[in-house]
Amino acid sequence: MKQSRFLIPTSKVEIGDDVTCKSLSFMLKAGMIKQIAAGVYSYLPLAWNIIKKIEDIVRLEMNKAESYELNMPIMQPKELWDESGRWEKYGKELMRMKDRKDRDFCLQPTSEEVITTIVRDNVKSWRLLPLNLFQIQTKFRDEARPRFGLMRGREFIMKDSYSFDLNEEGLDYQYHLMEKAYENIFNKCGLKTIKVNADNGAIGGSESIEFMAVSEIGEDTLVYCDKCGYQANLEKATANYDFAIVNEDIKDIELIDTPNIMSIDDIASFLSFETNRTAKYITFKDDTNNKYYLVVIQGNYDINETKLLNLVKAQELRMLSDDEIIEQNLVKGFIGAINFNPKDKFIIVLDEALLKLKNFTAGANVKDKHYINVNYERDFKADFIGDVKEVHTNDKCVVCNETLSFDKGIEVGQIFKLGTVYSEALGCTYLDKNQKAQPMWMGCYGIGISRILMAVVEAYVNEDNNSIIYPKLLQPFDVHLIMVDGKKEKQLSLANEISDLLVDNNINVLFDDRHERVGSKFADSDLIGVNIRIIVGKKADENVVELVNRLDSTKIEINKDELLKTIKGMI
Ligand code: ATP
Ligand code: MG
Repeated sequence: MKQSRFLIPTSKVEIGDDVTCKSLSFMLKAGMIKQIAAGVYSYLPLAWNIIKKIEDIVRLEMNKAESYELNMPIMQPKELWDESGRWEKYGKELMRMKDRKDRDFCLQPTSEEVITTIVRDNVKSWRLLPLNLFQIQTKFRDEARPRFGLMRGREFIMKDSYSFDLNEEGLDYQYHLMEKAYENIFNKCGLKTIKVNADNGAIGGSESIEFMAVSEIGEDTLVYCDKCGYQANLEKATANYDFAIVNEDIKDIELIDTPNIMSIDDIASFLSFETNRTAKYITFKDDTNNKYYLVVIQGNYDINETKLLNLVKAQELRMLSDDEIIEQNLVKGFIGAINFNPKDKFIIVLDEALLKLKNFTAGANVKDKHYINVNYERDFKADFIGDVKEVHTNDKCVVCNETLSFDKGIEVGQIFKLGTVYSEALGCTYLDKNQKAQPMWMGCYGIGISRILMAVVEAYVNEDNNSIIYPKLLQPFDVHLIMVDGKKEKQLSLANEISDLLVDNNINVLFDDRHERVGSKFADSDLIGVNIRIIVGKKADENVVELVNRLDSTKIEINKDELLKTIKGMI
């Protein structure tokens, strides 16, 4: 490929206001991507070259696991999404549009609905199962905060696959095949990943694993134990929590004066307690369903919002504003579950730790007053009880009691056991051996192709952020052929000759045939990141070129007749 025809618009872009991480700055410098709108990018030829290589790896591993490729429409009708209930449920992330006849459509964020109808309408008998189908396709999610370039785009490339089985055992089997395939894919892409138990989110179903590439810019927090190997996403992690042990009997509840004592720290020090003997009362609203919540949690913990959403089965919750608290006849800083008479009905959620805690605290819903010696359920009752706490850095492993470790990770893939949620909603059944209709057991499996590219750049870009060495299988080209001075007749003819020779031998060569200063050619070559470099320079007259291996920084002079054999050896 001639570089003069291969658009690689390198430039100088440093980390700044809009460029929030080194991989984004590098990809802009290396002329790999161009932003078109927030979270919407063009992939320029160099990036697209690497995307294709990632896709090749994914295709190979999927095929090895007997998952085969198809292609589904990006634009999907509302009716189908109504059947699964996700038109309402998906919220603002679903990109919606209307056609000229005013019919509603969305742009696929994933494709459970379409694949399930394809299988429903074409697979009727137990004899045709199991199946596993995948596509590599553009996805759309109107993310609230598109960030870090391709990492969190609104339009991005995903491999999504879906498995269909006769029963749960079949699903288990395919799920583990996918798990193995994903491990292979991330290894081949050079990404060190940690597998974590994950929250199932809006998609429904039961078991799920997220594959996290460890990275400073990861948006997810991984909780793991170095001793026994426990790993979980913060949204799912549990621990041996920091509970207060209270060796006393249940006491009579008492109303006390607490002038201007509003925070947990203040109330704890006022009573000479540790904060783990207090309780916090936090109010939320679910705007979609117009429901109010009061969440009661041990004072030394924060609420993990995902755990809370899952417990109460809500899509979105937000804390009440100060004005709304007043409007509900509540007193900020003194809210509690006793003497609790808000204007609207509230659903009360109790963190399960408080089932064990005796004689804790509560705001009295009156200014400057608290209750002490509060006990569940003598003093109040909850509508939901569960674990809504976020694990702390000093909590202990739930399996072996060792102190837990925390890391940041980028989710590059996720696998889910869907069970029969979608097959039941969409009527995707098969006839078993007794001609009885049974719902198919489904799994779904996603990989962020474009996100992998970004995660790879983030992991492999050099310290100076001016060059990169890609993992072996993601090299954009096998060889970078650089002609020092194209005005020299012999250099031009030798470089052309070498380029033809490599092309004829199926070696993927990028030939820098441009009339640029040699310094900027080398700088660009560092940005492009090909490991083997052939430099056609001064000794062209003698048919001698320089061969550089960037991996070990070796340089040799070599005659053109020896070149092909040596390069084949290196590749
Ligand atoms: P996240 O938690 O990062 O929002 P998700 O759990 O919603 O991701 P999935 O529905 O599991 O994502 O999608 C499968 C894969 O698609 C993810 O593992 C990730 O690699 C990729 N992906 C998801 N959202 C985006 C996005 N906005 N931009 C780029 N890749 C994405
Ligand atoms: Mg996910």
